Amino acid sequence: VQRADFVVVANRLPVDLERLDDGTERWRRSPGGLVSALEPFLRARSGAWVGWPGVADADVSPFTEEGLRLHPVRLSADEVRDYYEGFSNGTLWPLYHDVVVPPAFHRSWWNAYVRVNRRFAEAAAEVAAPGATVWVQDYQLQLVPAMLREQRPDLRIGFFLHIPFPPIELFMQLPWRTEIIRGLLGADLVGFHRPGGAQNFLWLSRRLAGLEPSRAAVGVRTKPGVVPFGDRVVRVGAFPISIDSAGLDALARRRDIQQRAREIRAELGNPKKILLGVDRLDYTKGIDVRLFALRELLEDGRIDPDDVVMVQLATPSRERVEHYRQMREDIEREVGRINGEFSRVGRPPVHYLHTSVNREELVAFYTAADVMVVTPVRDGMNLVCKEYVACRYDLGGALVLSEFAGAAAELTSAFLVNPHDLDGVKNALHAALTVDPAEGRRRMRALRRQVLTHDVDRWARSFLEALGSQPHTE
Ligand code: UDP
Repeated sequence: VQRADFVVVANRLPVDLERLDDGTERWRRSPGGLVSALEPFLRARSGAWVGWPGVADADVSPFTEEGLRLHPVRLSADEVRDYYEGFSNGTLWPLYHDVVVPPAFHRSWWNAYVRVNRRFAEAAAEVAAPGATVWVQDYQLQLVPAMLREQRPDLRIGFFLHIPFPPIELFMQLPWRTEIIRGLLGADLVGFHRPGGAQNFLWLSRRLAGLEPSRAAVGVRTKPGVVPFGDRVVRVGAFPISIDSAGLDALARRRDIQQRAREIRAELGNPKKILLGVDRLDYTKGIDVRLFALRELLEDGRIDPDDVVMVQLATPSRERVEHYRQMREDIEREVGRINGEFSRVGRPPVHYLHTSVNREELVAFYTAADVMVVTPVRDGMNLVCKEYVACRYDLGGALVLSEFAGAAAELTSAFLVNPHDLDGVKNALHAALTVDPAEGRRRMRALRRQVLTHDVDRWARSFLEALGSQPHTE
């Protein structure tokens, strides 16, 4: 194995292995923002990426794809079920998202999580050159930092959590809470989106692992706190992730995209106002909340079905998990109910698309939308709302945003709502639909200032600087 100075370890590789019906296999680039954010660092430093190729039992040797060195980790079908669908998405995901649905605690899932984390750690240890930087990503791999350090104390190890870190009382429910905290403490730097998550982690570290945080470590923002742990120092901080703001801004200005946005408007019957939701079909996203609010606004006569259309793009997600199946049925029933009550022929108030679209089409939808509706009950960051803002170089459009999305801390000029407060959501939708144009532009200008100056490159750079693995640039 050719060794690398910079290694990213993530559940998924930046490419997916696809098995076609005729039995052949091919690789498809997954469009994630993380890949494009990290690519410059990977290329500049002969980097490698360790991850699962997305299908069970795939025996693939390391290979290079468009200049990226990829190291696939093999998972059996049982491991996909227990480590990925089970412990990652049936235990940790709901637990870390405020127990929106009850997390399930199964020892067999935990055992698979330990086994698979060890495999990722071994792969990273094999790939990393002496003294290399290894950056471990997200909730599926929280044991990797400590497992890796055990084998390779020479490495500089960073960990970033892309989902919320939960309140202390919720985390304490986890039977394996101490193991998780100790796993994360194997890193030199542990990063979260929000200072609150960093604080919860520090408190739990002291309580569960006997770590003594210094006073300076609490309430830090991008400047991580310094924490002694054994003979080492673990730093903890908040690093809010972002998007390729300039790239989206440029895409939105393209004439063909503007043309497509006008087409979308026409296809929807040129309504006065278009509301847009774009989400993975996930119970954390509050898709039901916005549908309830829309229905009541129609019932109350505060909005006219002749004037307003809602488009909900719902990307298929985790379809083998029971909670997701149930939620999909509930949402589709509600869409049917609204359309049954308020449609005229050819004019349903809700256009629901259970599909994903490519980047160009998505930007055309953002451009066409008068009001972007983002109402998660809990979301680590939420990139969709930042993407919408980056696309609105015309200063048009309005953003309704949940206070419980990480992005709300930065996007304070949005119409902020508590998604549990149905009247509040109704009022925010109504206010955004009827906002005075000058006021709308003022808000959008303020939102854009934040999003354009805080992009994903700045996020990666600031994390790696704090890890001591990148020269200071500002
Ligand atoms: N997205 C996409 N195609 C779609 C819908 C969404 O590529 O049809 C992308 C979207 O641009 C965004 C990401 O999916 O970058 C969703 O990220 P977010 O943080 O909003 O939510 P997550 O799905 O990670 O919980």
